[in-house]
Amino acid sequence: MIGVTVLGSTGSIGVSTLDVIARHDDRYRVVALSANSDADRMAAQCREFQPDYAVMADEAAAEALALQLQQTGLETEVLAGEEGLVKVASLAETDCVMAAIVGAAGLLPALAAARAGKRILLANKEALVVSGQIFMDAVRENGAVLLPVDSEHNAVFQCMPPGYSGDMLHDGVRRILLTASGGPFRSVDLAELEAVTPDQACAHPTWVMGRKISVDSATMMNKGLEVIEARWLFNAEPERIQVVIHPQSVIHSLVEYVDGSVLAQLGSPDMRTPIANALAWPERIAAGVNQLDLFEVARLDFEAPDFARFPCLRLAYEALERGGSASAVLNAANEVAVAAFLDGRLKFTAIAAVVEQTLNALPPAAADSLEQVLDADREARAFAGRLIN
Ligand code: NAD
Ligand code: MG
Repeated sequence: MIGVTVLGSTGSIGVSTLDVIARHDDRYRVVALSANSDADRMAAQCREFQPDYAVMADEAAAEALALQLQQTGLETEVLAGEEGLVKVASLAETDCVMAAIVGAAGLLPALAAARAGKRILLANKEALVVSGQIFMDAVRENGAVLLPVDSEHNAVFQCMPPGYSGDMLHDGVRRILLTASGGPFRSVDLAELEAVTPDQACAHPTWVMGRKISVDSATMMNKGLEVIEARWLFNAEPERIQVVIHPQSVIHSLVEYVDGSVLAQLGSPDMRTPIANALAWPERIAAGVNQLDLFEVARLDFEAPDFARFPCLRLAYEALERGGSASAVLNAANEVAVAAFLDGRLKFTAIAAVVEQTLNALPPAAADSLEQVLDADREARAFAGRLIN
């Protein structure tokens, strides 16, 4: 049996992961689950999967959960806080860690899994955006295996040459083509964007996801974060990563070779496909996903991204170019701005402005140690918070 820890089990990716695991209970055993504060949902997941550990990031929620589990006679041990998250990411009984916490809050547990040499299924792109080289070094130095769950990166992973060396040109790869749906505002009149509400921004045309990533998809900061994610996962120079708007979300990404071949991975837009791929790689397991009906899809459209409509995408490329801590600053300012937008304290169009002003105000520092990137993250959060107030 393969032991699995699911970080962020009550979220969109977490629930899809448990759905795939439940279809293969002869193969996977849930060792630990974690969530932020939703004790009721966590209690239900504990009853179904009977993990050894359940971690609540929030201390009060951990107490509430412990009480509920006691009443039902479950033996799951309840842990709290970041310490608990780090512990369940590195347990000896765990072979495989699904990193599905949202935001930089997931960095330390994901890094703990890397340091413990686990197989890491990475959904939490912010962790890699913030820590970049530090994360990749931890994976390499500790013999961890890093498998992308983000649908685009999982598609690229499937299309890359088997046993990819980490040197694109050496392996005959010319470009990575990352597809993007363009989100709900791809063709909305630009003047209307200012008045957009959180619910409009979260109504994604092709994917159902958590609220933070849904807003990121609407600003296309999500694709910007994914460009940075691809830079690290595949050791790709930014100019070899092309974003392609593809509204149907059927082609999840493509890899272009020097001989002119272009390989693509297609499928129904359902995260259980990349989750199952990463769980079982190099084998294949059923994921409960609807078969792709090409006759129903009928056509595939492509457009170039519009940087005027989506300034966040431009800012992500700029952060990569600046290097050092700039990606951590970009991510932190964006997290603060998106939270303020979801709270009704910031206009949709001001998200990019907050990120840009924070990037311009905080010159990139070195990002060689965890302390340095955590400092950059803290400073950027404080600066963006002051801008919004
Ligand atoms: P979500 O909001 O639905 O779930 C987030 C999970 O993280 C929840 O279990 C929540 O309890 C937990 N969490 C939140 N804040 C936390 C904190 N401070 N400490 C500990 N735990 C915390 O988000 P999601 O849509 O499932 O996305 C999770 C990650 O996966 C994000 O990084 C996102 O970018 C990435 N991702 C999601 C999708 C998708 O389809 N949802 C696709 C690709 C990548
Ligand atoms: Mg994605």
